Amino acid sequence: MLNVSEATSGNGTPDMELYDLRVTVDRIEGRSVCGLKVGDYFELVNSAELRIPDGKHFCMYAIQSIAPLLPAKQRQLPAGDWLEKDSFVACPDPEERLIMKIERIRKVQLNSEDLT
Ligand SMILES: [Zn+2]
Repeated sequence: MLNVSEATSGNGTPDMELYDLRVTVDRIEGRSVCGLKVGDYFELVNSAELRIPDGKHFCMYAIQSIAPLLPAKQRQLPAGDWLEKDSFVACPDPEERLIMKIERIRKVQLNSEDLT
């Protein structure tokens, strides 16, 4: 699941690293309310860049529900941490029961001064 290849971003000398993330619709157990399909995804790369493939969309409420967890998933957590082990998050729409999966797709080298 984890791609080991490393990339760099920004101008300064790298002094930290984060994971780039992909959030994919893993399953829809109810009715797709916001038009998403299994396999639809967005990526969070280079710390703060949200990318949705051309011509696609993603449910704002699904993003809103998963967004607070993403900064933690960008970082290596202790092995026993529940958020290290668990990668599934639900869209809050009760009829939809749309489940997303967070994956770490690559590690990126960054300079902390480029980010703050
Ligand atoms: Zn939704």
